[in-house]
Amino acid sequence: MEKLILDGTKVAGRVKDSLKERVEELKKKGKTPCLATILVGDDPSSETYVRMKGNACQKIGIDSKRIHLPEETTTEELLAVIDELNEDEKVDGILLQHPVPSHVDERAAFERIDIEKDVDGVTSFGYGQTALGFGKYPSCTPAAILRIIDDYEIPVKGKHAVVIGRSPILGKPVSALLLNRDATVTTCHSHTQNLPDIVKQADIVVAAVGRPEFVQGDWIKKGAVILDAGYNKGNIGDVDYDACYENASAITPVPGGVGPVTISMLLKHTVDAAEEKITK
Ligand code: NAP
Repeated sequence: MEKLILDGTKVAGRVKDSLKERVEELKKKGKTPCLATILVGDDPSSETYVRMKGNACQKIGIDSKRIHLPEETTTEELLAVIDELNEDEKVDGILLQHPVPSHVDERAAFERIDIEKDVDGVTSFGYGQTALGFGKYPSCTPAAILRIIDDYEIPVKGKHAVVIGRSPILGKPVSALLLNRDATVTTCHSHTQNLPDIVKQADIVVAAVGRPEFVQGDWIKKGAVILDAGYNKGNIGDVDYDACYENASAITPVPGGVGPVTISMLLKHTVDAAEEKITK
């Protein structure tokens, strides 16, 4: 069986190349797209993620406004910062790096982000729009998974997609996006019974569990397409890659699969938001 390694770095490169041209066009019209990132506290992985996002902006000519708040920031203080960014005409997108420290009401902070600037797809309004099929900015990892599927022309209509995970930023929105593409979707979670038997029925498997090498090779139907959103310590995905590769017809590696495309979707949503602003 011919196998496809779904190369996220290449997909992300294509997305970024097309964005560079759009950013140039915007700049000619006097608008530089701008992404504001908010980091609360000093978690080293979160710092790395925010830095990577800021650097990715810079590389394609998007301004990044980086706000780093101390660990002891209260919910009220964070909401006030989000309010300021909502009002700031220069800012097109707002990304609140999560998780925030446990004393902060993360959901309240997400909800405060203006829907027009919710380029990371974290508000319940944005999620609702995505689920109904007209969301402008779905969460970036689900958007990345669909982008990989589209770039490799993987058929979705009528296929059985099994999504393992139901988080608000990943499992639930990716299930909605696949359903809107006419897949038959089963969304699994920690209370799902007979998970291996369900995964064995899947034409498309999306792993979004947060457990290293969780999905086993003998769960995979011959010819299934595997999209591994997992990103665990030591660059390990949620799929046992070598074992699952055997039966898969296409599979994303970790690293170099869903991760790089996720960042490129954040950039794309920021450019989309900037374009929308100047055409208003
Ligand atoms: P999360 O919020 O922890 O959600 C994990 C989901 O997996 C939950 O819905 C949970 O079920 C389910 N689950 C846990 N154990 C399970 C089990 N034994 N059987 C079946 N389901 C189980 O995680 P997340 O934020 O969605 O992230 C998932 C993975 O994606 C992580 O590896 C994360 O690092 C990665 N990620 C990658 C990117 C990227 O850019 N590539 C972005 C975001 C996240 P319950 O709901 O029942 O608890």
